[in-house]
Amino acid sequence: MNDALELLRTEPPLWIGLSVLLGLMIGSFLNVVVHRLPRMMERDWAAQCAELAGREPEPQPVFNLAKPRSHCPSCRAQITALQNLPLVSWLALRGRCASCAGVIPVRYPLVEAATGAIAGFLAWHYGFGPAALLAFVFCATLLALALIDFDTQLLPDGLTLPLLWAGLLVNIWGVFAPLQEAVVGAVAGYLSLWVVYWGFKLVTGREGMGYGDFKLLAAIGAWLGWQALPLVILLSSLAGAVIGIALIAAARMGRSVPMPFGPYLVIAGVVALVWGDGLIAGYLKLLG
Ligand SMILES: [Zn+2]
Repeated sequence: MNDALELLRTEPPLWIGLSVLLGLMIGSFLNVVVHRLPRMMERDWAAQCAELAGREPEPQPVFNLAKPRSHCPSCRAQITALQNLPLVSWLALRGRCASCAGVIPVRYPLVEAATGAIAGFLAWHYGFGPAALLAFVFCATLLALALIDFDTQLLPDGLTLPLLWAGLLVNIWGVFAPLQEAVVGAVAGYLSLWVVYWGFKLVTGREGMGYGDFKLLAAIGAWLGWQALPLVILLSSLAGAVIGIALIAAARMGRSVPMPFGPYLVIAGVVALVWGDGLIAGYLKLLG
């Protein structure tokens, strides 16, 4: 065991390669989470509404992250372990179901590839050690949140809140920020967007974002400390403006179409994790 760890520490290519493999597998799992978690939440809400209305909730087949087994959405054929290898299976099947030749969306292998690339990058950036693994937990959870928010305009508490607690826990050992800065970061992250939300609502009468965004920024503050928050807000607003304008121009959609803010917070959070210190230092230098 010690020899294996020593080998990973002294052989960066091995460590990075192993991280990429792990990332690909986690990416495959993220696809399941992104697809199923919002549906699990909807089932919960339906059951709660039935209970409030005094109706018996309708009996439903078991549906969670593990059950039922993965199957093709068009023909319901179960996906075998061999057809479930991240990236490789999609390429081998040329993006089609083995039973009915229905198209498997290219997003699945893309998410797997992206997760693998992120894992490899973090392994290289942090080197062998717990910081790389923890940074990967942070980034993988953020990726799942961004995709769910993009699909459904939801940021599940089941992901944002554990991410927040995990950030405070990790920083007991000051992995990414001193504990005091992490605690202040969590509180300030929540309150800053809460203030923006109510200011925007009082002025325009509309809701610019949701409570999930506050919890997401609180989680980012818990991981990175409060100093990262101005940068995160600046970067996410910039990303939101650039991508939002591009989307409006491309789709000519009305400006009141709800556009999730979560993915921009996620992009900004990851950039702040990896390059935040340099960006903040450069910014302060510019100020003189
Ligand atoms: Zn099929």
